Amino acid sequence: MADAGSKPKLWPQVLQKLGLTGPTDLVLHFPLRFEDESSVCSLASLSTEFGFWSEQASPSVQCQVEVLESQVVFKPRRMLKVRVKDDSGEAQLRFIYFNASMQAAMVKGARYRVIGVPRYSRLAGLEFIHPRLKKGWLSQEDLSQQPLRAVYPSTSGLTQDRLGQWIRKALDEHCPDEWLPGAYLKRLGLPSLPASIRALHAQTQPQASPFWNRIRLDEIVAQQLALRRARSSRHRASAPVLQDEKGLSQRLLQALPFKLTGAQHRAWLQVQTDLARPVATHRLVQGDVGSGKTVIAALAVAAAIGSGFQAAVMAPTEILAAQLHSKLSQWFEGFGLQLVFLKGGLSERDRRERLAGLADGTVSLAVGTHALIQESVQFARLGVSVVDEQHRFGVAQRIALREAGVHILGMSATPIPRSLAMTYLADLDVSVIDERPPGREPIRTRLIAQSRREELVEPLSRLREQGSQAYWVCPVIEGQQDNEKALAALEETEQWLRPVLGDELGVVHGRLKAAEKQAVMQAFARGDFTVLLATTVIEVGVDVPAARVMVVDHAERFGLAQLHQLRGRVGRGSGQSSCILLYQEPLSEAAKVRLRALYETDDGFELARRDLALRGPGELLGFRQSGEPELRFTDLERDEALVQSGVEIGAAIAEAFDDPKRLVKLGFEPQAVHRLLNRWHRLATDLLTSV
Ligand code: ADP
Ligand code: MG
Repeated sequence: MADAGSKPKLWPQVLQKLGLTGPTDLVLHFPLRFEDESSVCSLASLSTEFGFWSEQASPSVQCQVEVLESQVVFKPRRMLKVRVKDDSGEAQLRFIYFNASMQAAMVKGARYRVIGVPRYSRLAGLEFIHPRLKKGWLSQEDLSQQPLRAVYPSTSGLTQDRLGQWIRKALDEHCPDEWLPGAYLKRLGLPSLPASIRALHAQTQPQASPFWNRIRLDEIVAQQLALRRARSSRHRASAPVLQDEKGLSQRLLQALPFKLTGAQHRAWLQVQTDLARPVATHRLVQGDVGSGKTVIAALAVAAAIGSGFQAAVMAPTEILAAQLHSKLSQWFEGFGLQLVFLKGGLSERDRRERLAGLADGTVSLAVGTHALIQESVQFARLGVSVVDEQHRFGVAQRIALREAGVHILGMSATPIPRSLAMTYLADLDVSVIDERPPGREPIRTRLIAQSRREELVEPLSRLREQGSQAYWVCPVIEGQQDNEKALAALEETEQWLRPVLGDELGVVHGRLKAAEKQAVMQAFARGDFTVLLATTVIEVGVDVPAARVMVVDHAERFGLAQLHQLRGRVGRGSGQSSCILLYQEPLSEAAKVRLRALYETDDGFELARRDLALRGPGELLGFRQSGEPELRFTDLERDEALVQSGVEIGAAIAEAFDDPKRLVKLGFEPQAVHRLLNRWHRLATDLLTSV
């Protein structure tokens, strides 16, 4: 995308440091707060007004004072202390950064205006630390002429005065003109863009002010426009028409041990329709954990094979891939199909053999980890790629996938709040499975302090006789890999549970070899032992219907979405399931909010909405590290109505973008639309690669 427009040759380095790369950035660099220099407080009034001097933040004030004496002290550190007075009382000023000329200017009788936040110290009484100083006093009349002074977010090496000057200059020379037709503004009850920008630089405006809303609208429209432009430039590849002439999907439906739920049925219809078109499908099947997404994947696979094509099914971890493989093998038993399992670490011969089957077309279905999208993997006639738990794949892998020119079906348990669906994911096709398979009882969630975990031993030891099983999950603290600390925690728990559970305890963690991990998981799925102690390797997708208890150790260290996913590992069969969240006291505020949310609801959408509010869209979608730009002024949840309008306007402009005449007809000046994109150039388009 274009740069910030007319960036001067010698753009100050220090502005770069603030992320401001041109005058248009300065225009949108709004004040943190304002200081009022039009009125003066007496020192005595400060002492009484802020009555019992707590540490609470008081507002910035201005006083007109006269210097009584000043001195440089060296303890506890070097500083300049200045005693001042006015008619009503005295105060002390303290400066840690000062120079000789400043020190020299603090002579008895010198008059200053002091602007700053007063505080109280028991030794010195009323005190200002590093206030701003202005020489001389002002008359009542002059005072009333003083404008409010904006305080901008700044950085070291940049004074407010310098920054303020630059911003005022940018406002004079680069303040954008209104570009939205008056009818829109009228309908939305919004002031013009330049008026809004100036108002926000001039004085404090409440959150809900129309001035802020006008800026937000600008931002949303720009975001929508950028998003849609980038997506439309990525032309939709053609893909084979998959009509399933052999009727394999029908056959699978009949062979399944259950009937599709209404929601599954709807999703399948949508997928089926997509696959029968000559354009590459790009659909996300979204459904809460346990909602039954796998069968939709299987049906799509069947449709591809039934049309004489091959299919690939990918999962983010080997355990998940293995589980999918075994489920699909089971469902397709008797269909006379060749399936292969592909993963990293196969022997060279094994791998070559499996790849050969895919390349010559004798193998119809490949299930595996991302080993499947490596260059050496060639399919004879690939028709469909299914990506399970798609949000877990890295951006690079998702891009690699998209190049393929086949139908792509994603599966995700991360619910998409309405506001996100409307904005970031605007043109993605989504099928929602919003109904659980019948006979599932809601999962009971309990919060128990870590110190009381002994209470769990007895119920765990009785699970076997009830025909139930349990997971006990310990958090992995940094990154995705199990680290020493997590393993130590795991070991500690094992030492504690082993004497009670004996052989009924199995352990799995990331340091085990893949085959070992899988062996333990399979033994657990068979019911060979009762309690599976694990790090988060079991995080998503694992399906063991007899597992009815999920214990999460140190639940406060997990994110909301992760906890919800973990909880979804149980309650997959019939019977009452429970999720026990052990927490270490004291809990941080954020952890309390997360755990409370989990306790209060098991509605994945509601949890996703709260997660969005807590973490922002980038993280929720799993495509953003941190520090990259998101919407700065708009909050998707809070500003939903405005977002809706912005999305509509953005869509209309995107439609006409390449045709200036049409833009003009719609009431938009083409140049102004380009300037809009420039103005918001920091809304980088990398988010486009997300889904
Ligand atoms: P997820 O959406 O989390 O991937 P799965 O596809 O693993 O969920 O399904 C969870 C469990 O529910 C599986 O054991 C699956 O066989 C079962 N299941 C799926 N659909 C139905 C249905 N319509 N009726 C009964 N059980 C179902
Ligand atoms: Mg699944």
